[in-house]
Amino acid sequence: MTSLPYVVTPELLAELEEKGARYLPTLELMQKEQTSMLASFQHGNVPRRRWERLVACEGRGCPNRTCSSACWFGERAAYLSLVAQAHDLLEQTGLPLWFVTVIDPRYRVSAGELRAMALDGMKQGLSRRFKHIEAAYGPLHAFGGIEASFEIGRNGEPYWGPHTHLVVAARCPEAELKAALRPAGDLPRGFRPIMMTPVYNLGNALSYCGKRTPAQRVSTTGSRTTRDCLKQPVQSRANLEYNIWLLGLRPTERLVMRGFRRVHGRLTLLR
Ligand SMILES: [Zn+2]
Repeated sequence: MTSLPYVVTPELLAELEEKGARYLPTLELMQKEQTSMLASFQHGNVPRRRWERLVACEGRGCPNRTCSSACWFGERAAYLSLVAQAHDLLEQTGLPLWFVTVIDPRYRVSAGELRAMALDGMKQGLSRRFKHIEAAYGPLHAFGGIEASFEIGRNGEPYWGPHTHLVVAARCPEAELKAALRPAGDLPRGFRPIMMTPVYNLGNALSYCGKRTPAQRVSTTGSRTTRDCLKQPVQSRANLEYNIWLLGLRPTERLVMRGFRRVHGRLTLLR
């Protein structure tokens, strides 16, 4: 069993907790989520061949070397084991740390069309921005992930909005960093595309960046105060769509990393 690529062990969870991480799943919770997700695939008539191999993923690990992002064991284990390493490496940089959320409305997709969300396009866009910051301010390290948030616009139309949560280590003035990461083009009036704060708890920020469960928000885009008014569990149909989307992604396909080298699951800093 030690040959499993990714395993969520009590030791890993304890290490993360010690590093300040919250949003940690328990093994019981992962099993519960996995079971209810597989049941929803069955009830939702998702072809069995698409999720059958996930039935074998249980207990402490994922036996599939190429399991999907939908697997609670494979995905959580892959992400969390990287978080534990990124935590120590980011601390070593000695660079100021920022917690950044980027919301780029150009990548929104309507409810029912989540599979068309352009993760690669978003990652390439971020990569260009990082390159500009590096050129002006030197080394930059970023670690985080892209989540799809189910939202209802003011017109009542539901859509999926990509939220990219990142911890960024860079010796770049706050305003410059914010400007560099700002999505391009015209944004809806009153829309806040970037939220940025200093990192107070690195372990917590890193574990938050890869959180799994989408929240439903009622967006007031277009008014002066764009904010999340409501947060509640998504409807089961949206939840099913979200899980089917993850089913087609590799365990760390939502991951965004810059300034790290990753070889066989081991991270090192690129300088
Ligand atoms: Zn798995």
